[in-house]
Amino acid sequence: MKSPRSDSTPTWYEAGLPAPQRHAPLGGDRAADIVVVGAGYTGLGAALHLAERGRDVVVLEKAAVGSGASGRNGGQLHTGQRREQDYLEKTVGADDAMRLWRLAEDAKANLKELIARHNIDCDWREGLVEAEHRKRFVPGAHAYARHLRDHYGYDQLETLDRDALQTYVRSDDYHGGVLDRGAAHLHPLKLARGMAEAAVRAGAVIHEDTEALEISQQGGVSVRTPHGTVRAQRLILAGDALMRGLDDQADSCILPIASTIGVTAPMGERLKDFLPALTAAFDSRFVVNYFRPTPDGRLLFGGGESYSTEPVANPGRLVRAAMKKVFPALADEPFDYAWSGVVGVTTTRLPLVRRMGNAVLAAGYSGQGLALAPYFGRLIAEAADQADARFDMLTRLPTPAFPGGAHLRWPLMVAAMSYFALRDRL
Ligand SMILES: Cc1cc2nc3c(=O)[nH]c(=O)nc-3n(C[C@H](O)[C@H](O)[C@H](O)COP(=O)(O)OP(=O)(O)OC[C@H]3O[C@@H](n4cnc5c(N)ncnc54)[C@H](O)[C@@H]3O)c2cc1C
Repeated sequence: MKSPRSDSTPTWYEAGLPAPQRHAPLGGDRAADIVVVGAGYTGLGAALHLAERGRDVVVLEKAAVGSGASGRNGGQLHTGQRREQDYLEKTVGADDAMRLWRLAEDAKANLKELIARHNIDCDWREGLVEAEHRKRFVPGAHAYARHLRDHYGYDQLETLDRDALQTYVRSDDYHGGVLDRGAAHLHPLKLARGMAEAAVRAGAVIHEDTEALEISQQGGVSVRTPHGTVRAQRLILAGDALMRGLDDQADSCILPIASTIGVTAPMGERLKDFLPALTAAFDSRFVVNYFRPTPDGRLLFGGGESYSTEPVANPGRLVRAAMKKVFPALADEPFDYAWSGVVGVTTTRLPLVRRMGNAVLAAGYSGQGLALAPYFGRLIAEAADQADARFDMLTRLPTPAFPGGAHLRWPLMVAAMSYFALRDRL
């Protein structure tokens, strides 16, 4: 399978920000304590943590800081893991399910603390609604909210019947839902750039336009790039779905899927006809729709997927089809911006965390990396330095290879994904 390419269409996120600080490509050989591949939330979370502890860290990024999923995502910060706790209880047992819950809560706290400590202005806004697109899903969603309250002590959820949901999402497409006051939404690229600046201030070195081409693990690690090699004691692989050919497990366990986002022109008060409380929301579909207001009064709508390694040719068309179903009155609303990004997905939707000799890897957050990835970056950074019981628990999570392994999985997965996407429409 070809290396997936990130879409280079400018996003609304990039368009609204000043030109970023650029980091020179690696030119020549150098040594470091730890070398990190990838400058998204995982790699930056790791680099920041290590640099703050006085480690000599070098980050290699094949494009630019936040050019992967971390700078192009929906900006929705979820509670918990990508899979629900009742699934985890059955799959990994009650004790590890509880640890995974606490870890996800720690991930939210970590992000809040990181944003506050480094003064990262990223438009944090609390509250996130889950909207059920099937009437029969509503009782289950409400029962799950009670399960989280009774078994995990999570008291941030409010169950919404059809009428109550309308005060957050005005759409006939939904039958009820749940408001999570402990979740949030934010500007993902401001977060990525803020994390990079904090890591550099702490002493990390970032090389952009520097692709890791080959790694070897003999007496430490060395990473070859087009114009130089970095030698280090430890390696952190944080390339998620955009990384190919450096690690067999990552190649066979992470499936790249393109997700598309469109952003309307500023809608003024009319935005409240659709999101009366200006809260972010996502829905219960397998190909999930996610939408939220921007601070300048636009609707940012994510929906539609493409199972291809190429950037989506016309992302606006895919999003429009999804948006029309949720908000028919916006069927012809023009998008000022539309783009795609590559999400790393695993078979179980649980993250892939592994140690391979002197290298550690975390990836495959399956659409829920905003809170998890910065924290997993920090966890694998700690594990690269020393033994950590939570890391060992994470390496036991079931994230098997996709059928067909690294080479044959693509056609099989496209067939399976297309089947589940079809079920949304039935
Ligand atoms: C459209 C979209 C919407 C999403 N919406 C949400 C959401 O609302 N909420 C949520 O929680 N999650 C969401 N996600 C998922 C979330 O963005 C990711 O889980 C998270 O950003 C992953 O971070 P990462 O650092 O692991 O990977 P990335 O951000 O993809 O970073 C990996 C970096 O590694 C670099 N790289 C790869 N290979 C190499 C190499 N060989 N050499 C050098 N550099 C390399 C890439 O260029 C890239 O910059 C969304 C993702 C997308 C694409």
